[in-house]
Amino acid sequence: MNLIFLGPPGAGKGTHAQLLMNELGIPQISTGDMLRQAMKAGTEMGLSAKRYIEAGELVPDEVVIGIVKDRLQADDCKNGYILDGFPRTVKQAEALATFAKIDVALNIALDDEVIISRLSGRRVCLKCGATYHLSTLNGRDTCANCGEKLVQRKDDAPETVKNRLSVYAVSTAPLIDYYEKLGLLKTVQCAPTATVEENYAQVRQTLGLV
Ligand code: AMP
Repeated sequence: MNLIFLGPPGAGKGTHAQLLMNELGIPQISTGDMLRQAMKAGTEMGLSAKRYIEAGELVPDEVVIGIVKDRLQADDCKNGYILDGFPRTVKQAEALATFAKIDVALNIALDDEVIISRLSGRRVCLKCGATYHLSTLNGRDTCANCGEKLVQRKDDAPETVKNRLSVYAVSTAPLIDYYEKLGLLKTVQCAPTATVEENYAQVRQTLGLV
């Protein structure tokens, strides 16, 4: 199954993509993770992406389209994949359609207030990619998987989060209509108080995995 996970920043795309990756044995392809890795490694692409990411702006289409096109050639994508955070513009979606056949675009929807609270309390491990929320860490500041010190992503700072949400509304939300018109859209509306397990159960059900 070739999947796209759509939805605003902080809706849980990455969390659910990881759960599904483990369940189905298909890779989660997160452009955000790939760009952060490139930044950390100090590659030319990473350095040029840095200023967009830290300002909560989108990295230019040509850059992310190139990364995804290359990544989808890899052997581990033969039996399917989950695109997490790509496409984010109609131009990216149109490019994707020229080199991939998508089965489902799953829209993970969540209210803005919940998103802001989630992102401002999010702490991440830059080594293994695990994410946590302050409310469940009980004062711990290291990753449960690899022991690395947890940090707040620069783009999770309140002002940048606001910008990311407006970028989402202007550039990415139109993809909901785009995939609806193609008959590929499915939506999971996450309740503000639902647990990850409850939301994931909805994701599975919506994808017909139950
Ligand atoms: P994410 O981890 O998916 O929230 O992405 C973090 C940041 O990486 C975004 O705010 C953008 O600056 C950049 N980014 C990730 N994916 C894309 C994309 N498909 N198009 C443009 N920029 C992206």
